[in-house]
Amino acid sequence: MIRITLHIWSQASPTEAGHFDRFQIEGEPQTPLQQALLDESAREKLFALERAQCAVLCNGIPQAPDPEIPLSQTPLEDLVDPGANGGDAWLEPIRARALPVLKDLAVDRSALLRLQQKARFDGAPESSCIACGACIAACPNASARFFCAAQSPGSPEAAKALAQMAEAEGFGVCEGFAECALVCPKGFSLV
Ligand code: SF4
Repeated sequence: MIRITLHIWSQASPTEAGHFDRFQIEGEPQTPLQQALLDESAREKLFALERAQCAVLCNGIPQAPDPEIPLSQTPLEDLVDPGANGGDAWLEPIRARALPVLKDLAVDRSALLRLQQKARFDGAPESSCIACGACIAACPNASARFFCAAQSPGSPEAAKALAQMAEAEGFGVCEGFAECALVCPKGFSLV
């Protein structure tokens, strides 16, 4: 049996201040989060996040523990340290100026979708990037350079032009921290 104190970000709108709500949950290690989380409003926050298709900060890391599994299906044991019988787990929206919080865990990905459309308009082939924003949230500068490269595979010039548009959208400048590639659920790499 695992017992977790789960802290979930709550924010009514982009302009209101947010806070963490706290829930006590328990279950077998393999119990999916949505099954252990009995509070209806908290469950709805998870489902709204999945409908919004954006990344989430899970214990400070901009990616669900297993990118192949929706957050709501994450086993309890994956929310705490390996082998622990429980502890605290934190779920909050990804943080970037150009990706403002819409509601609770979901952020506004409009800027990413505009960049994606621009890349397609300029003739870039379809990309498997899901515009989740994890790479941007992982970057200390909130740069979208990695995202732009994923939109324009094989064309560094097109990626650079797109990155300039991204900076005009409010994303930061790439300074080579290389945190982005560590969290990409689709496996894009820096080379
Ligand atoms: S490049 Fe990867 S991490 Fe970044 S938005 Fe696309 S899928 Fe998400």
